[in-house]
Amino acid sequence: MATIDTRVTTYTGSTTKPFLHADHIIKRFGAHLAIDDVSLAVGKGEVISLIGPSGAGKSTFLRCLNLLEVPESGALTIGDQTLNFDGQTPRANQLMEMRRRAGMVFQSFNLFPHLTALGNVELAQMRVLKRTKDEARERAMVLLDRVGLKNKANSYPSQCSGGQQQRIAIARALAMDPELMLFDEPTSGLDPEVGADVLAVMRELADTGMTMLIATHEMEFARRVSNRVIVMVNGAVIEQGQPDQIMAAPEHERVRTFLSAVVGR
Ligand code: ADP
Repeated sequence: MATIDTRVTTYTGSTTKPFLHADHIIKRFGAHLAIDDVSLAVGKGEVISLIGPSGAGKSTFLRCLNLLEVPESGALTIGDQTLNFDGQTPRANQLMEMRRRAGMVFQSFNLFPHLTALGNVELAQMRVLKRTKDEARERAMVLLDRVGLKNKANSYPSQCSGGQQQRIAIARALAMDPELMLFDEPTSGLDPEVGADVLAVMRELADTGMTMLIATHEMEFARRVSNRVIVMVNGAVIEQGQPDQIMAAPEHERVRTFLSAVVGR
């Protein structure tokens, strides 16, 4: 078997400073090493797909980037802010500041059931960004329109399809004016048809220049939309490269077996 280099740091625009830099990130759950020394540099506007078998650590890595999980060691830079986790836990206000830079969309939408679509997109704008109700409403309507759901503004999540709920969740994340967007298997569990509407919204977002990291099993979407594909196995990045190169001629046997399993599904 080929040697697996867990310390890959490839950043295609190497002449400029990366916008996001995860530097030797380690995260354990008890004795289990979920993220095993992962480094990744991402340029502004890059769209990265994170693929790999279930349990590989894709979700945990995204959660580390959003500090929903605090890494045990390593450092994380987003924009002009760096947090170092080696032997120290950053202060709560530092974590909060960093967390606001990244919007996150989960597999399970996580919308508030007692609020309308509009209410869901307004809430954090008022609570966290201290926008007035009118400001929050105006921004929410622009974003609901952008995800094709202006006509659902006054509907509750239970009155929306899974795909519509996910698009509301995307609008809600965008309402916080994030500098990058993290998507954790946003179309898993959706029918292909409604999933396609979600992927179309993501593709439009990528076209606006948003920096995006997407954990996904949608290989065709990964191939068409991302600049780079990162393959994770057992908490480590084992291969990365341009989508066509990874899909057509992966270097590692483990990547080949994974790809043939997902593409053949
Ligand atoms: P993926 O997203 O690639 O399916 P995950 O990041 O969800 O993988 O999980 C990586 C590993 O970490 C798995 O072995 C999983 O069981 C474990 N894990 C994830 N979250 C927790 C947690 N909160 N507590 C304990 N183990 C966890």
